[in-house]
Formats: sequence, C-alpha cells, structure tokens
Amino acid sequence: MAETAKILCPEKTVLIPDEDAGCTLADDCPADEFAKFRNKHPDHFVVSYINCTAAVKAQSDLICTSSNAVDLINQIPKSMPILFAPDKNLGKWVKKQSGRELTFWPGSCIVHETFSEEALLKLKLQHPEAEVIAHPECESNLLDLSDFIGSTSKLLKRAELSPAESFIVLTEPGILHQMVKKLPQKKFIDVPGIDGCSCNECPYMRLNTLEKIVNCLEEMKPQIQLEEEIRTKALKPIEAMLRMSK
Ligand code: SF4
Repeated sequence: MAETAKILCPEKTVLIPDEDAGCTLADDCPADEFAKFRNKHPDHFVVSYINCTAAVKAQSDLICTSSNAVDLINQIPKSMPILFAPDKNLGKWVKKQSGRELTFWPGSCIVHETFSEEALLKLKLQHPEAEVIAHPECESNLLDLSDFIGSTSKLLKRAELSPAESFIVLTEPGILHQMVKKLPQKKFIDVPGIDGCSCNECPYMRLNTLEKIVNCLEEMKPQIQLEEEIRTKALKPIEAMLRMSK
C-alpha cells in the first residue's frame, strides 16, 4: 500500500514504519516469476489485486481491490481471457461471482488460509443466531459456510446495516477493534486458526507499531523509493481501475 501511495504521488514523501511490514501475497509473487507466467499467457488481460508489488503492478493491465474486483472483471469484454494474480482465493470467489473463466497465479494470504473450518463449525453451533461475515481472501470451504462475503469496508458496513446482533468474523482480527468501536452494542466473535493458534493475526501488519510510527516521523525514514520506469508503468493499471470504478 505504501508503494501504491508513492506510485500515485511521486512528489510526496511516503514513509513506512517498518520495511519488513510486507505481505505474503506480494512475497509469493516475485516479478521475474510473474513475467514468465505472463509470457505463457500472452493473449491474456492481466488483473492484479492491489496487494502486490509495484513491479507486478507494472506488468498488469488493471488493478483491483477486494471491493471492486467483481465489478471490474464484469466490465472486461467476454472474448478476452483473464489472468488473475496474486490471490487464488479471491480469484476463485471473483470467478464464481462473475461467471468468467480466470487463470490464477497460485498465491494466497497466510492469515486468511489459517482459519479453521472445524473452529468455525463449532462457533456456528455455539452461536446459531450469529451472522458469519467473511473476507473473500478466505478459502472457498469457509466462504461456503458464510452468510455475507465482502471487503473489509463492506464487512464493517454489513455489521452496521444487518439486523443481526452478533457476528462471527472471518478476516484479520484487527478489524474487530473498528467494529466494536463503531457498534459497541453488537457482539463480534473472532475465528481462531487451526489448532486454536493465533496465527490469524497478520505478522506483517503488527510490525507497524506506534513506537515505529513515531520514529519514522521523527527521522523521516525509511522512505519508499521506486524506479521511475516501474512507477510510470505501475501507474497505468491503477489509473485504469480508477477510471472503471463507479
Ligand atoms: S492479512 Fe497480512 S498477509 Fe494477508 S493480505 Fe493482509 S497484509 Fe497480506
């Protein structure tokens, strides 16, 4: 996300509190390997989820978010084959929603792949009144058990608008803080990882601590730097997304 800010605003200083605060989706899709994958599908229109590196964005025709992915895919001419990267779980959900054939890059988010189906089924039995809301980065067996699927902002909106008073939440548990803050009268239940571990907490996001934010603001570093050629190439598919978003 920090790279996306720099792609869009090259004249501004973009700081990142911890340079290791990456993302498995970005790490699992190295630009050189992705270039080989693309070369095997030269006639495909390349749609990349925003959680990828600037170098992968630079090789894409269109960027999407989990909020707008289905809408954007639906706007691509039906005759055009589509390559979707880097999250295969989001890709499978988009394929189901849009009815389009997609070829996936085989990446996934470690956090969303950690949720346990067994734990979810137990929670559903314990809280039959609760609505299950899930992020589309989850695996399809969990999405099939969910009542509502959407991006983080859509999950928050759903919790607000739904008549349900309790929710089982299948996404990175950091959002629960926002949900409880906004809707203190409602109940939000986190789904544990396999074997009850807490691996469903993103280890990357948690690297950005308050202390590191203060440090980077005081020292004005680390800063995001991008090669201009990569930045200008990566800007095009982001601009295409902004044009096509309603
Ligand atoms: S939860 Fe962490 S690893 Fe998963 S997509 Fe978000 S930043 Fe990446």
